[in-house]
Amino acid sequence: MSDRSDKPKARDLPDDVRRIVDEIENEIGDDGFDGLVTGAAETTPPRGRRSKRGATPVNGGIEEAVRQILTEIGEDPTREGLAATPDRVHRMYHELTAGYHVDPERLINKAIFDVDYSEMVVVKDIPFYSLCEHHLLPFFGTAAVAYIPRGRVIGLSKIPRVVEMYARRLQVQERLTQQVAEFLQDRLNPQGVGVVVEATHLCAVMRGVRKPGTVMTTSAVLGLFRSRDRTRAEFFAHLDRPAPGA
Ligand SMILES: [Zn+2]
Repeated sequence: MSDRSDKPKARDLPDDVRRIVDEIENEIGDDGFDGLVTGAAETTPPRGRRSKRGATPVNGGIEEAVRQILTEIGEDPTREGLAATPDRVHRMYHELTAGYHVDPERLINKAIFDVDYSEMVVVKDIPFYSLCEHHLLPFFGTAAVAYIPRGRVIGLSKIPRVVEMYARRLQVQERLTQQVAEFLQDRLNPQGVGVVVEATHLCAVMRGVRKPGTVMTTSAVLGLFRSRDRTRAEFFAHLDRPAPGA
């Protein structure tokens, strides 16, 4: 994984990408701790704001590549409807991959708290949009994240942004699921973490004649969620579905 070492310096980011990164790192008006909820805590969807026009630097590489794609598929890149497309695609890819530039330290800033609480915390129905790294087509759906604290909790509003940080990259669903689980494991050292992601992959549903199941489910379970059936069963009960093997 080279996504840490080769990321541009913050000052190099185009304004529109910087705004998205800031939004993920530090929600406006966010004071960090927004309460601890036992059981299933519904979340509000993160604001998927798109900047319209930004100061994306022009080096022309993506634009030229998009023009080539348009030509290869038999289109005329100079016709009116396509004239601004290379520029739009350029800006769009920067926005959709802004997660590479999110600083995890800024994201969790002041939002980890020492709390004497050891019951399961569940945040579910977290919407996300990502790009499959095999086809550069979207996959999207919802994530459910749960953990059992060991004296430390994270502000609830941070969890959807952890998902967002990893979703706004080129991804495979399995890795996205694992990365969210490992992030919480690393930062909170909880007794366990469970993450379930359900998503529709446009590369699966748009291509070919086969119509495979349109929703793919992945899960990552660490600590008690892996070792204790009862914990896993409680988590899956929160998700309204039977726990595998329970
Ligand atoms: Zn794909």
